Amino acid sequence: MLADSWGSWRIHRYLQNENVRQVFEQIWHYGPLTRNQLSQLTGLAIPTVSRITAELIKAGLVQELNSVESQRGRRPTLIAINPECGYIIGVDLGGTKLITLAINLEARVVARHETLLGPSMKGLEAIRQLLIQSIERVIAKSGKLRDQFIGVGAGLPGSIDHSSGRIIEASNLGIRNWPVREELEAALGLPVRIENDANAAALGELFFGAGRFQRNLAFVSLGTGIGLGLILNEVVFHGDLGQAGEFGHIPLVRDGPMCTCGNRGCLEALAGGWALPERYEEAKGQEPTSPESPRSAMEIFRLARSGDPIAQHVIAQAAEYLGMGIASLLNLLSLRLVVFGGGMIEGNPTFLQAIRKAAVRHLIPELRGQVRMVPSALGRNAGALGGAALILQQVFST
Ligand SMILES: [Zn+2]
Repeated sequence: MLADSWGSWRIHRYLQNENVRQVFEQIWHYGPLTRNQLSQLTGLAIPTVSRITAELIKAGLVQELNSVESQRGRRPTLIAINPECGYIIGVDLGGTKLITLAINLEARVVARHETLLGPSMKGLEAIRQLLIQSIERVIAKSGKLRDQFIGVGAGLPGSIDHSSGRIIEASNLGIRNWPVREELEAALGLPVRIENDANAAALGELFFGAGRFQRNLAFVSLGTGIGLGLILNEVVFHGDLGQAGEFGHIPLVRDGPMCTCGNRGCLEALAGGWALPERYEEAKGQEPTSPESPRSAMEIFRLARSGDPIAQHVIAQAAEYLGMGIASLLNLLSLRLVVFGGGMIEGNPTFLQAIRKAAVRHLIPELRGQVRMVPSALGRNAGALGGAALILQQVFST
């Protein structure tokens, strides 16, 4: 729709030149830096770096920090990003709530809006209105002008067609075949990028969280379902068919419990949030309709903490299967970093510890001791910051 909307934004205009883009990106990731350091990082000659930094300073995209006099003489001037040179909107649309925020280029949140999705908030029309209102509210709250925003990035549930920017299907929101990018660009007058929520969260960790300065990482989301975002060589890996990351549906148990995908014995049917109450009933030998049945994974965690041996067993089993899944991923891809997020991990360090232990047991010996498995460092804003990271990635890959 607004395919040229990037072109109207000044960061994009400046970064058309590959050398300028490289210098800006290095300053963003590693700054503040001296011109010498920039020359080493980019392989550009110092006079070229000086010309480019002068241009970026004049444009207000970067700034010189005051050089400090020291006993050994004047230190070389450092160059840093001007964090107020542009703002980004990040959106995290989940099954139960919508978080929208505006950040500056250093990921400082300048405005935020959070709203719960009531049971009536289903279907395309309701969700479209809610999204647009929430983004408009955050722009107004930020006190910035619309043309100070570089773009809107959104992590969305369900399967996404990346080339057309459509939600193919998000069954928990009752949405099918929605050209969300095109419609939001038309309504907001800003460039929009969308991603599957786990992929966006993975990108958020790469730019702002536990994955800074890494090239590869896996983000594993453990909530009602099991999601995976894979970053390989600094970009989200989609695979040939666009749906990479269906980690919840790797088969682990032959003829195991029925999964939502129609197969049996998937990781999600053994360890996903929705499956734990079923596994509990199974272990207890009850009919799933029994009135005292726990209805959510959270309830099972509560029962386990209060000493219920069956709940403890179910959770230990889930951690074991998750560990097997994580080890398969690490053995296959030789990754150094796995970041965990989602409702089953937040505030639940003992569960992550159990998963870690099980994963290490199933790792090949060469990887043991070299892999970090950590919770997300971004907290409640992780998904929305992931959305914002989509726009930063677009800026850097211009
Ligand atoms: Zn499945």
